[in-house]
Amino acid sequence: MNRAAHNDTPVFPRPSRWWYLVFALAIGALILSLNSEDANSLLFSEFRDALRKGRVVGPVVIGEHTIQAEIREREGTVRFVTQPPPGYDVVPLIEAAKLPYTGAHESQWNGLVPLMIACALLLGVFWLIAMRRGGSAPVSALPFSRHRAQIHSEKDTMVTFKDVAGIDEAVEEVQEIVEYLRHPGRFQALGGRVPRGLLLVGLPGTGKTLLARAVAGEASVPFLSLSGADFVEMYAGVGAARVRSLFGKAREIAPCIIFIDELDALGKMRTGSMSGGSDEREQTLNQLLVAMDGFSPNAGVIVLAATNRPEILDPALLRAGRFDRRVVVDRPDIRGRLQILRLHTRNIKLGRNVDLAVAARRTAGYTGADLATIVNEAALLAARRRRDQVGMAHFEEAIDRVMAGLERRSRLIGRREKAVVAVHECGHAMITSLVPHADPLHRVSVIPRGVGIGGMTLQLPREERGMMTRAELCDRVAVLLAGRCAEDIVFGDVSTGAAQDLQQATEIAYRMVAEYGMSDRIGPLSVARADRPLLMHERTTERALGDETAREIDVEVRRILLEQDERVRKLLGEHRRRLVALARVLRDRETLDAEAFANLMKAPLKRKAKANPAL
Ligand code: ADP
Ligand code: ZN
Repeated sequence: MNRAAHNDTPVFPRPSRWWYLVFALAIGALILSLNSEDANSLLFSEFRDALRKGRVVGPVVIGEHTIQAEIREREGTVRFVTQPPPGYDVVPLIEAAKLPYTGAHESQWNGLVPLMIACALLLGVFWLIAMRRGGSAPVSALPFSRHRAQIHSEKDTMVTFKDVAGIDEAVEEVQEIVEYLRHPGRFQALGGRVPRGLLLVGLPGTGKTLLARAVAGEASVPFLSLSGADFVEMYAGVGAARVRSLFGKAREIAPCIIFIDELDALGKMRTGSMSGGSDEREQTLNQLLVAMDGFSPNAGVIVLAATNRPEILDPALLRAGRFDRRVVVDRPDIRGRLQILRLHTRNIKLGRNVDLAVAARRTAGYTGADLATIVNEAALLAARRRRDQVGMAHFEEAIDRVMAGLERRSRLIGRREKAVVAVHECGHAMITSLVPHADPLHRVSVIPRGVGIGGMTLQLPREERGMMTRAELCDRVAVLLAGRCAEDIVFGDVSTGAAQDLQQATEIAYRMVAEYGMSDRIGPLSVARADRPLLMHERTTERALGDETAREIDVEVRRILLEQDERVRKLLGEHRRRLVALARVLRDRETLDAEAFANLMKAPLKRKAKANPAL
C-alpha cells in the first residue's frame, strides 16, 4: 500500500474541498440575509409608549406595513421594527414626537428572495442524495467526492527486483510479464501466451504493491495505480467513469502497468441484492470487465491486481483473458526475513553486535512491511538515544514494540502453535512418501497463509489427468487425514487446524461411494446429476434415493475415512520418532523443499533424541 510515491500526477483533478466551503458560505449568507432585518420586533403599543417617553430616535421609516426606527436602551440604541394596526395612520404620532420621518415602498419580492435561495439549496441537497442512491447524473458535472480517489501515475517507479526480497517465487512468476513488456514482439514470436491480468494474492504488507511497481520498474514502463476501495461509496457512474479513464490513459501511454489494489473491494461476488451501494459497484465491476476484454493482446497493457481474499471475487473476474493467473505472495520464511532485513538495513549503520539472523528467527509470521517497520523503529530508537549506530538492543526493542501491535491483531504464531502446525504438516508430508500413489511432495511450510490456516503441504501433481483409480483416491484421503493423525500421535490431542483437511477427505470419500461406484456395498450406482458433479451439501436435497440407500452411503463414507485413518495412524506410529525429529527441523527452518525433506526422511535418527511430547 505504498502509494505515496514519486512523481504522482493526478489524472483527475482532485475534487476539492472548496466546494464544501462554497456550500457552507451559501448557507451562511442565507442565514444572514434572513436576519438582515436584524431588528427586534416590538409591539405597536410598546412603540407608542417609547415614542411618548422620547426613547425613539429617528429617522422613522414608515413602510406600507411596517415602521422602522431605533430605540434607546441602556446599552445604546437598538434597531426595531413594528407593525401598526391596519389602516392606522402613524404620521400624526410621529409628528407629535417631533421626529424626522420618511416613507418606504417595500417590494413584494423582498421577503421571497431568501425563501427562494433556501428552496434552491434544499433542492441541491436532495439532488445529491438521490444521486448517491444510484440514480444517474452527468458525471462531468460532479464536483463532489467523499474519497480523494485518484489515479497515481508514475513514469518511472525507480523500483526494481533488487528492492524486493524474500518472495522469490512470486518474483519468478512475474518475470514473464517483464519479458513481454520489454520486447512485446519477440515475446509473441517465441510463442509466449501474452498475459493480460494477474492477481497477486497475499496478506497486507507482503509486498504486492512493491512487486507490481518493481515489474514496471524492471520493464521501464509507466505505472498507473488505483485502489479498489476508491471505487466504492462513490456517486453513481463515477466508478465506471474512473475505470474508463484509467484504461483510456493506459492505452495512450502503453506499454504500461495498471495496478488495482484491494480488488476485492470492487470485485466482490455479485449478490443480486437490491441495496444501492452494490448497484454502483456492479456498474463499476462491469465496466472493468468490459475494459479488460477491450484490449487486444498486443496493446501492451498488463493489469495487476492485489487481494487478500481471492475466494470472494466475482468469478467473472477470474475468467480467461481477465485475471486468469494468480501469484501467491506469501509471508516470508526465516531465510526470506533475513533477506528483507538485510535489504532494509543496507543504508543503516549497524553496530557490531547486530545479528540479523537472530532478528529473523524472532519474527515468524511478520510480513515484509512489518520488518521494514522494525528496521525503521530500531533506527529511530538509536537516534533518540543519540547513538551513531543501531545496536542489537534497539532491534530487540523494536521487535517487541511491533510484536505488541501484531499480537493484538493476532497475526503471530506462538511457539506452541508453531510446534503443532509443524507436526501436522510433517504428518501430511511423511504420508506422501509412505503411501504408493500420492502425488510427490513439493514443499512443506509452517508459515501461515491466511486466517485460520496454519501451514501447508504442497504436492506436485504427477501428471495432468482426468482420471483416478480407487487406490489413488484412497491414498489421497490418507494424506489429507495425516495432519490430524500426526497431532494426535505426538500430542495426544487434535486441533481445529484439520477442518479443511477433513472436509476435503469427506468430499472425496463421498464421491467414491456415491458417484464413482467404488464401494462394494453400495455397488455401481451414481447419485450424481448428469449435468454436473454432486456437491456434498446438496446430497440431501437433490438425491432421488430412498432413506435406506442414503444411510448406507453415509455408513460407507465413514468406513472409508476410518479405514484410511487407521492406516495412517499405523504408518505414522511406526515412524513416530522420525515424525518428531522432522517436525523439530520444520519448526526451526519453517520451510522444507522436497529434496531437504527426502534427505531428512533417510537421515539416521539420533539415538538420544527422545520423543518429547511438546517437541
Ligand atoms: P502490500 O501491497 O502487499 O500490502 P506493500 O508492497 O505495500 O505491501 O509493502 C509495504 C512496504 O513494506 C514496502 O514498501 C516495503 O518497504 C516493505 N516490504 C514489503 N514486502 C517486502 C519485500 N518482500 N521485500 C522488501 N520490502 C518489502
Ligand atoms: Zn492439514
